[in-house]
Amino acid sequence: MPDSLVDVTVVVPVYNEEAVLPLLVERLRPAAEGWGASYEVLCVDDGSTDATPVVLQRLRREWPEVRVVRLRANAGHQAAISAGLARARGRWVVTIDADLQDPPEVIGEMLAVARGQGVDVVYGVRQDRSTDTVFKRLSARLFYRSIRALSDVDAHVDAGDFRLMSRATVEAVNALPEHSRVLRLVVPALGFPSATVRYTRAVRAAGESKYPLGTMIRLSLDGLTGFSLAPLRFATWLGLLGGIAALGVLVYALVQMLLGNTLPGWTSTVVIVAAVGAVQLLALGILGEYVGRTYTALQARPAYFIAHDSLDAEAERPSGERGPQALT
Ligand code: UDP
Ligand code: MG
Repeated sequence: MPDSLVDVTVVVPVYNEEAVLPLLVERLRPAAEGWGASYEVLCVDDGSTDATPVVLQRLRREWPEVRVVRLRANAGHQAAISAGLARARGRWVVTIDADLQDPPEVIGEMLAVARGQGVDVVYGVRQDRSTDTVFKRLSARLFYRSIRALSDVDAHVDAGDFRLMSRATVEAVNALPEHSRVLRLVVPALGFPSATVRYTRAVRAAGESKYPLGTMIRLSLDGLTGFSLAPLRFATWLGLLGGIAALGVLVYALVQMLLGNTLPGWTSTVVIVAAVGAVQLLALGILGEYVGRTYTALQARPAYFIAHDSLDAEAERPSGERGPQALT
């Protein structure tokens, strides 16, 4: 439990964003200084392999509110945010991408809404996704529609990971033992009082997206299997239908045999073998998703490892006489 609280923590997951960080500071700093609140900018360096650590150290010298938490290895966007939430000291915690796709100016609005309406969560909802690729928009739509249809989670169709949370919400998220959690579903699933703020999603300010297709599919699967048992039931239904169909074909095959037409039956045999095999494989695959989740939960491996927290380093320094310490 953090002892000395600040008013606002801005959690920024950062992975190989050397190009974008200076631009982020240019926009975030004036915005933050306008909040009239104490704050920290908690940059979670998700095991970057470019000059990001160096850039972050420089930013920290120029802007004392910047705090750097470095993960030992790349843990992924969601795990990086989780690390930030676990370390945040703010009474309010806002998570925002480093690439300026989410405008920092909106945070002030979120704070005002949270305080004014007394809610725990303020979701940033994209009102215009025209800057996203058609594929990204379609896949996102498909994903959120199916999640809404298949589970009880009332997640906003156009809400990403740009959101403001109260301390109580952050504590609740931190206390969840769940692995591979998809925060944009976990937070609405808590059902805390919430409000939304609309904003226009911009294009990435610099650098390239760190979200390849494979990661996007992973996130969707984690979200789906984390919140819905429907795919599991789907497998059962499919197996049942496949069984009935197989029974029909069996009767057909028997009749054909009695009529002496055994040779043409070969085709249907092949079809049955293939169909049943397909159904079984699909069912096994879906089962595997849940077994896999159970397995990782049992292993209880940490989703991330902290290498360094600039705040701890400061606390250890006796009088501030020593210069910045080497990163461990
Ligand atoms: N990110 C991260 N770890 C990763 C991948 C991405 O911390 O393994 C960060 C990245 O630096 C950015 C945010 O997550 O701040 C969103 O990533 P990105 O902009 O690449 O995703 P997109 O907007 O293309 O979906
Ligand atoms: Mg982005």
